[in-house]
Amino acid sequence: LSQARAEIETTLARYTHLYDFAPVGYFTLTRNGSIQRTNLAGARLLGQARSLLRHRRFGQFVIDEDLTEFDNFLERVFAGSRQENCEIRLRASGTHPEIVISIHAIHDEKEVECRVVASDITERKLSEARLELAASVFTHAQEGIMILDADGRIVEVNRSFIDITGYPLHEVINKAANIFDSGCHEPEFYTKLWAALKSKGHWYGEIWDRRKDGDLYAAILRINAVRNANGEAQHYVALFSDITALKEHQNQLERLAHYDALTGLPNRVLLADRLKHAMAQTRRRENFMALVYLDLDGFKAVNDIHGHETGDELLIVVAQRLKDALREGDTLARLGGDEFVAVLADLGSRNECEIILARLLQAASSPVHIKDQVLLVSASLGVTLSPQDGGDAEILLRHADQAMYQAKQAGKNRYHLFDPELDLHALTHRDSLQRIALALEKKEFVIYYQPKINMRSGEVIGVEALIRWQHPERGLLLPDEFINTIENNELISKVGDWVLDTALTQLTEWHKIGLDIPVSVNIAAYHLQQEDFLLRVRDKLAAHPDLRPDQLELEVLETAALADISRISRVIGACQGLGVEFSLDDFGTGYSSLTYLKRLPAMTLKIDQSFVRNMLWDKEDLAIVEGVLGLATAFGRHVVAEGVETIDHAKLLLRLGCERAQGSYFASAMPASALPDWVRRWKPDPAWKAERVNLPSGDNLTLIYAEVDHRQWVRRIESALHGAAETPPLDPRTCQFGLWQFSDGNTHCGHLPEYLAVLPVHERLHALAQELLALHSADQTEIALKRLVELHALRDQFIERLRELSSATASALLVAGFKKGLRKATIPLL
Ligand code: C2E
Ligand code: MG
Ligand code: MG
Repeated sequence: LSQARAEIETTLARYTHLYDFAPVGYFTLTRNGSIQRTNLAGARLLGQARSLLRHRRFGQFVIDEDLTEFDNFLERVFAGSRQENCEIRLRASGTHPEIVISIHAIHDEKEVECRVVASDITERKLSEARLELAASVFTHAQEGIMILDADGRIVEVNRSFIDITGYPLHEVINKAANIFDSGCHEPEFYTKLWAALKSKGHWYGEIWDRRKDGDLYAAILRINAVRNANGEAQHYVALFSDITALKEHQNQLERLAHYDALTGLPNRVLLADRLKHAMAQTRRRENFMALVYLDLDGFKAVNDIHGHETGDELLIVVAQRLKDALREGDTLARLGGDEFVAVLADLGSRNECEIILARLLQAASSPVHIKDQVLLVSASLGVTLSPQDGGDAEILLRHADQAMYQAKQAGKNRYHLFDPELDLHALTHRDSLQRIALALEKKEFVIYYQPKINMRSGEVIGVEALIRWQHPERGLLLPDEFINTIENNELISKVGDWVLDTALTQLTEWHKIGLDIPVSVNIAAYHLQQEDFLLRVRDKLAAHPDLRPDQLELEVLETAALADISRISRVIGACQGLGVEFSLDDFGTGYSSLTYLKRLPAMTLKIDQSFVRNMLWDKEDLAIVEGVLGLATAFGRHVVAEGVETIDHAKLLLRLGCERAQGSYFASAMPASALPDWVRRWKPDPAWKAERVNLPSGDNLTLIYAEVDHRQWVRRIESALHGAAETPPLDPRTCQFGLWQFSDGNTHCGHLPEYLAVLPVHERLHALAQELLALHSADQTEIALKRLVELHALRDQFIERLRELSSATASALLVAGFKKGLRKATIPLL
């Protein structure tokens, strides 16, 4: 018995264990729905501890909406039904806000209790809902959808699919998807599509397919592979939209963008494309192509005489004829107006090309009948051949255009072949411009400095900044090799600005180490003529506040200054206003007349080195040097002689009265770093120092000019008093004589009594002029005019004194043994 009992207990324990730990919820409910017993899963479903559930009503846990259903369920169970099922939702905690359970009840025989099995079907419900949603999306999607099996056979399609393709489901089911193949795509298109699907699992792109009725349609298609856990594709889902309308619209836009509206020919945009294509093809096939620029002759007259409408009609006819004259595959484009371009690719020989050109000429010049009129035009053709002409598309067009102009100039109705040889110059010019711009960017330029010497005192009076190009391949290049190239290009301003900046920075550096030396910078005329030149100079000076403006001097070529004299003299004047002085460089090469020189207020004339170099053996060059010196003295300008290569040059210049000089005899241009040492070591050679003769060779000339100058000046004062002219400068120190007085006069003639006699008369003359003009300003012009007699008297007295001084200096010259022959050389130039 105990064994039987033990067996029962074991069974009971096993049953209890199974009951307690079963994965589904077990409940024993009474007729009124209260819980008698439950297992662990049941308690978990209700979200309560098992001990708290006893005698609680199951209905408490059912959400309100499902309560009636639950009550009915219980009722049916207790009414004697053996089995009942229902689904209700529980108000439970845990993973879901509400859980759905499926309950299954077995009614107890005794009708006291029922046993309920409850399982959580929330997940199943959710996925059902998802599937439903998916199905609804599938059905109602705007996109056509088809589902293919792993072999690419159609399993399912949706409504839109049917609408777009025109195929009902039963006609396509189990068919391979290639029934839509339009024949628009190469087989490799599909091979690639499937390869992408296999490797990446998706494909996206545009495709042309065919509807059931045979019409083509464009679709944007996305296919995704649906893979199983092993990564094997089980299905493919293809979604597509019909974009045919969109495509047509796009095509229309493209036509507008690429074709000429009047003639229907490709326009400039499409031409560029075709040209590039033809050039690439020419390269590949190693043959040649021609680009023909075609301009109608006499078209404007047609327009003017017959009106634009007729003109348009003529263009349409001629365009068609030109097109017919070409071969299949050639392009004819209209650039606008009466200008066309033809691209003749794939040419085998010149002859072939010439035949087509002849046909084009023929086509353009045949009579055109419009309405009752017969119109006649012809065409001028410019042709360039590629690859003979090595330019890119843009350059080919330009060259063909150039050649077309030549055809026009040669008499029209003909073609002209562009010659790349002749254009090489232009090409290299463009290239060098680019190379120079790059050099500036890459900081390949450097400045060398060449000292300027006062031979009389032995001082270093300044340096000239001279640009060099440290070319990575060609070594150190002199300006002759590159300045000309950019002379009339905006690059010269950039280079010039760089030189200015660098020179000023260098000055500051030298300043810091106690080397106080003015620098002169060469400025190209183009640069000088820029609107903002003055502002730029001012800004640059402002950026170096520790420099004085007079430490900067600008050199402009005499030839350049003469080219635009009024403008350049204005700039020079304005710069002088800032304190910056000017030199006229290479003076003597520009045929300056006296009037010009008077209008160019540059302080210094730099005698061109060619004259200086040759003056030792060339009488004419000597005369020019002499003449320049004379001019400078007469106009109160300084002179610097360039190109002093030997001691003999230095000596002669000194004898001629030229003290300032520059040249390889003293020093060639050197890097900035070498200059401080050079200055420290610099000693004037005793040999030429001994040779110095202080001959005031130009003083006589100055005095003559001072005489003329004052005569003219008195006349201007008279005019001013009559209100007919502006007041001339009145300061006695800035007139011709005054300038000389404070530069050479005092030094050369300070010891002469005749000189001392002229000074007070000169002062009085200016003072009187000032007085008269003051009266004029105070509305007492009458009185001033009456006193003009005094002014004239004083002027004559001054001239008298000047002549006395003149003869005194002349005898001083004789005493010094000045060679008369040399002096005469001044005269012819003046
Ligand atoms: P330049 O302004 O007349 O400069 C004087 C030229 O004569 C310099 O040539 C100088 O090296 C050379 N020279 C000096 N002494 C002698 C000598 O005793 N014998 C000989 N045979 N030559 C001598 P460089 O440096 O070749 O410059 C040539 C020209 O290039 C300059 O003539 C100037 O017009 C221009 N240049 C130089 N630097 C610049 C610059 O920064 N900007 C501009 N726009 N032009 C510049
Ligand atoms: Mg110079
Ligand atoms: Mg020069």
